[in-house]
Amino acid sequence: MNFPEMAFAISTHLLSDEIPISELERICHSAFDFEVPLKKITPEISVLELFHGPTLAFKDFGARFMALVLRYVARNAPRRIIVLTATSGDTGGAVASGFLGVENVDVVILYPDGKVSDMQRRQLTTMGENIKALAVHGTFDDCQRLVKEAFLDRVLQAKYQLCSANSINIGRLIPQSFYYFYAYSQLEADTPPPIISIPSGNYGNLTASLLAKRMGLPIKQLIAASNENDVFPEYLNSGTFRPRTSLETYSSAMDVGNPSNFSRIIDLYQHDLNALNQDITGFKITDEETAATISELYKNQGYIIDPHTAVAYLALQRYRIQANDHISPGIVLSTAHASKFADLVEKQTGKPVEIPERLYSLLAKTEIFKKVDATLADVHAFLQANF
Ligand SMILES: *Cc1c(COP(=O)(O)O)cnc(C)c1O
Repeated sequence: MNFPEMAFAISTHLLSDEIPISELERICHSAFDFEVPLKKITPEISVLELFHGPTLAFKDFGARFMALVLRYVARNAPRRIIVLTATSGDTGGAVASGFLGVENVDVVILYPDGKVSDMQRRQLTTMGENIKALAVHGTFDDCQRLVKEAFLDRVLQAKYQLCSANSINIGRLIPQSFYYFYAYSQLEADTPPPIISIPSGNYGNLTASLLAKRMGLPIKQLIAASNENDVFPEYLNSGTFRPRTSLETYSSAMDVGNPSNFSRIIDLYQHDLNALNQDITGFKITDEETAATISELYKNQGYIIDPHTAVAYLALQRYRIQANDHISPGIVLSTAHASKFADLVEKQTGKPVEIPERLYSLLAKTEIFKKVDATLADVHAFLQANF
């Protein structure tokens, strides 16, 4: 099976009591209309490239599938659905691109003014149609707080049909479970169950791997690969969960100090730390090690990776040595295209990174956004003026 066929086969087991099979088939084929290659880098390690979607990051899988499911759900709804999403960078772009032109659904993306990269902002502000961008005078935490306040506000609730698209939403995790099966199917026949290394921040991707494992996928070990924001690996080692303010690192999409899927993971294991440790091993990788891994992989294998993928690559190597496991095949999830982090990657490889055409085309488009203060009153006024 190719990827959309496999996604369809799995989704029928999960969703066919809610969505007709013919509709699910259409959803899978149109959500996943890009390639998902598993590339062999060394005899032991393969990389699953999840960055061939429209925004060059793996978040396209969750956002595109969820958008089409929501379109189906909204088709006969009495009111339009408004998706409110906070973003620190990549989520907003994937959500904007996935929901563009979806009937009966409007999207409002809140981002911290001046705190996202130029390209990231353009991915939110140049879409138009049903996608609206709010430049919040504040931080990402303010944006997230405003979204939560809006969901709890009775006046807003009575007026609008609000919905979230952040990674705690199961509608984003279900489609992410599909590519674990696909990666396994691409391994040679008769290979033992793989070790899978996942670059993690909010741990949605790791939670999706646990769903795949519960569905029966053979997995030898899961690696929770973290940057210096190692709240979860620390929990695996100590049994103490110590959320804290996040630190800035090279792998910025993983700079999360209080991972939102932590509760879901420990609930899946009924708070049994030993059982968790049997399935998942955590590693913390520093910025220095991340940069060195990008250089080494380019020098030794001629393969270019982004800093998030580098964290997972080194964590997998650490695990193989620590567990003395040189038989199980290793799979590294590659979550972003190197061009999204061109400055660091070019510095480490000494070679210019090619920027795909679809990023360039954003530079020519007009940006539309509304500046607001970090207050619910301002968000409310915006909703009222637009819907
Ligand atoms: C969001 C993101 C991650 C982290 O994924 P989680 O599901 O939040 O753990 C890793 N890499 C990239 C490039 C991302 O955009």
